[in-house]
Amino acid sequence: MYRSHTCGELRIEDVNKEVTLSGWVQRVRDKGGMAWVDLRDRYGITQLIFEEGVTAPEVLEKTRQLGREFVIQATGTVVERYSKNDKIPTGAIEIKVSAIEILNAAKLPPFMIEDDTDGGDDLRMKYRYLDLRRNPVREKLALRHRIAQEVRRYLDEQNFLEIETPVLIKSTPEGARDFIVPSRMNPGEFYALPQSPQTFKQLLMVSGFDRYFQIVKCFRDEDLRADRQPEFTQIDCELAFIEQQDILDIFEGMVRHLFRMVLNQEIGDFPHMEYADAMRLYGSDKPDIRFGMEFVELNEVAQNKGFKVFDDAELVVGIKAEGCASYTRKQLDALTNFVKSQQVGAKGLVYVKCNEDGSFKSSVDKFFDQEALAAWAQTMEAKAGDLLLVLSGAKDEVRKQMNELRLHMGNELGLRKEGEFKPLWVVNFPLLEWDEETKRFHAMHHPFTSPKPEDMALLDTDPGAVRANAYDMVINGVEIGGGSIRIHDREQQQLMFKHLGFTDEEAKEQFGFLMEAFEYGAPPHGGIALGFDRLCAMFGGSESIRDYIAFPKNNSGRDVMIDSPALVDGTQLDELQIALNLKKED
Ligand code: ASP
Repeated sequence: MYRSHTCGELRIEDVNKEVTLSGWVQRVRDKGGMAWVDLRDRYGITQLIFEEGVTAPEVLEKTRQLGREFVIQATGTVVERYSKNDKIPTGAIEIKVSAIEILNAAKLPPFMIEDDTDGGDDLRMKYRYLDLRRNPVREKLALRHRIAQEVRRYLDEQNFLEIETPVLIKSTPEGARDFIVPSRMNPGEFYALPQSPQTFKQLLMVSGFDRYFQIVKCFRDEDLRADRQPEFTQIDCELAFIEQQDILDIFEGMVRHLFRMVLNQEIGDFPHMEYADAMRLYGSDKPDIRFGMEFVELNEVAQNKGFKVFDDAELVVGIKAEGCASYTRKQLDALTNFVKSQQVGAKGLVYVKCNEDGSFKSSVDKFFDQEALAAWAQTMEAKAGDLLLVLSGAKDEVRKQMNELRLHMGNELGLRKEGEFKPLWVVNFPLLEWDEETKRFHAMHHPFTSPKPEDMALLDTDPGAVRANAYDMVINGVEIGGGSIRIHDREQQQLMFKHLGFTDEEAKEQFGFLMEAFEYGAPPHGGIALGFDRLCAMFGGSESIRDYIAFPKNNSGRDVMIDSPALVDGTQLDELQIALNLKKED
C-alpha cells in the first residue's frame, strides 16, 4: 500500500491516526534539531515533521538526503500542529514520521514548481510534465475535465449518443489546409486528418442515429494565434428531424447548464442577431455585447458638405464614447495612432467633442459648422460630454476598422468586464463569401449548409445575397461555436457544388459517398460544433486556449517537449515510397 490518505485529506479530527502518504517533496526545512518536509500530491500539501531524539536516526538520515521533487512515502502519526497554517486545508496537523522510503530521487527541476514560478514560457513548455505539477496549471485541466463531464451529462440526458468517427479520412472542407498521412499499403495515396467529423456525422444521420455527439480532436493546418492550435477539440453534434430553432434551444440549454454547474452562474437568454445587423451595428460577426457603443451610419448628415474624404467614402460611420469629451490632445492622438496602426489600417480618425456648454469641437471644423456637427450629434443621440469617433471608407473595410476601435474603447473604458458573460446567437449568415484571391465564391460555413429556401432563386442572380440556415454562438466577442441546417437532397447538394466551382467529376470524386448516401433516405438534419478549448478558456477567464490543453504546441506548431515534428528514418520513407524534395532556404 503506497498510501492510506492523500496529501490534501487529513484534518484535526484525524489526530492520533497512523497514516501513510506518498507524494513529491515540495520543500525541506532543516533547522538542525528539527526538520520539516512539505509533501505534495494532486490533492494538496501535508507537513511532515522530524525531530532529533524522537525520530529514529535512520529516518533522519534519509530525510537529510531529500531534495525538491523527490518522490517519497512516509508513515507516521497525525499530530496537532503547534503553529497552524490557516492558508491550507491540512494546516492544523502534521505527520510525526516513523518511517520514510525514497521511491525515486529527482534532479533539481529547471524551474520552481510553485504557483508563481520563475520558469519562462519556453522552458515550461519543454518540461510541460513538470509545469503540470503546478496548482494553477493542474486546476485548468481539472476545470476542463469538469466541463467535459457536464457536457456528457447534459447531452446524454437529451438522448444524444457518443459515437467515435475515424481519424484517418479524406479531406473535409472546413476552409483550412489538411494534415495528410501517407499510406504504406497504398503507395502514393494519402489520408487526411479530419478538419472536423462533418461528413461522418451527416452519414450517422442517414443511418438513423438522430442525435450524435463527440468530444473530438480536429486538425487544421493554418497559421497559429493565441487561440488556435493545429489540433484542437470540438464538442461536435448532429441531429435529425429538427429545425434551426430546436438546435439553438438545445445548445443554449447546454451552455446555460455549464454556467450553472461549473461557475454557479445563471446567464440570461441568448438574443438572436441577424448577421447583417451584427455587421452593420458592430462591424463583426462576433460582437461583444457586454457594452453598447453601436455604430451609427452618418452618410446622410456628413456627406456633400465639401469634405472630400467623406464625400468619396462608401460609408461614414461613428461611435459614441460617453463622457469622453474631456479627452486631451494626447489621448486623441493616441486613438488616431491606434486606428492608423497596421493592425487597424485606417487612414485617419475624425472626432467631435460634445462640450458641456452645448458647443462642438471637431477635427473637421473647417468643413463642418456648429449646426452640421449638431446634426451628427443628434443622429448619434449624443449628449453634452460625449465624444464622437468617426471613420470613413469602403464599407467592409471601415466596419472592420470601427470594430477594432470599438473594442479598443471598450477596453479603455473598462466596459468589457471580466466575469460578466453576454452570449448571443448570430443567425442567417450569408451562404457564400467572395474570395478576391481565387475570384470565386466559397462556402462561408461549409458546402453542406442549406440555403434559406426563400433565397434559392438568388443563387443564379445574386449569389452573395443568399442567406444560409447557419448560426454561430458568440460569448463576449468570442465565437464559441457554429453550425447549420444541412442540405439532405442529392440534387441540391450537387447544385451547391456547382455554384462553388466544382465540376461534376470533382464533386463526385470528393463527396460522391455523401451524395450517394442522400439517395438512400437521408432525413432532414443539422448540427453544430462548439470549440471545447475556447469554452474552457472562457470559463477559466483566460484568452489563451493553450493553458487548457495538457500538451499544447507552440506558435510554430511544434511540440518542444517531444521535439515534433521531426525527420523520419530513411527506411520509413522508403517503405512509403516517398522521396523528399526540400527547397533550399535562401
Ligand atoms: N463542422 C463544422 C465546423 O467544424 C460545424 C458544423 O457545421 O457542425 O465548424
